[in-house]
Amino acid sequence: MSDKPPPAGMQRFYREDLDQHGVRATRRYEASELIMTFGAVRWLPGPNRMTLQVSAHLHFELDPPLLESINHGCDPNVHFDVDRSELRTLLAIEAGEELTAFYPSSEWDMQSPFTCSCGTARCHGQIRGSTHLPAEVMATYETSAFVTAQLALAAAARAMDEAQVDGGLGLTSLDHGEYVRSEASQAAPA
Ligand SMILES: [Zn+2]
Repeated sequence: MSDKPPPAGMQRFYREDLDQHGVRATRRYEASELIMTFGAVRWLPGPNRMTLQVSAHLHFELDPPLLESINHGCDPNVHFDVDRSELRTLLAIEAGEELTAFYPSSEWDMQSPFTCSCGTARCHGQIRGSTHLPAEVMATYETSAFVTAQLALAAAARAMDEAQVDGGLGLTSLDHGEYVRSEASQAAPA
């Protein structure tokens, strides 16, 4: 059951190449423009192919449901800000242009991975959620508070692993550098 009116300024259309629907603008939008706020038709503890993720066990289906037809793109022009419930433009969009969002911006580990055919120079191919993309790639996109925190945790875990591999002395890589240098200076003749 939907509480939100059908959105103005966009319409669903059929994309023969994908054999699925997309959404295109019916007017021009400026960059960083608030297109609309969205809500949830229902909340779920896990993802399905229609949901957006807010936190580890909080996923929702979009209201109005037309927004679910916005396709993924690796060079997106809109962003679903799930923390503010706002759909915003990233770039200026002309009337007739398709709206695309980068799904890993909110999705950590997708239930329905797919192969992207957006055809842009930065296409990542297999789209499975932000946990499956390199941190340096994710850093180039806007991400939800949850995905941002998950990426920071993953980076911290990697740093801990590397510190342990460094000799198990509990030294961080920085400390390790100091340690090697002080040893070298001791070994040098006075
Ligand atoms: Zn792509």
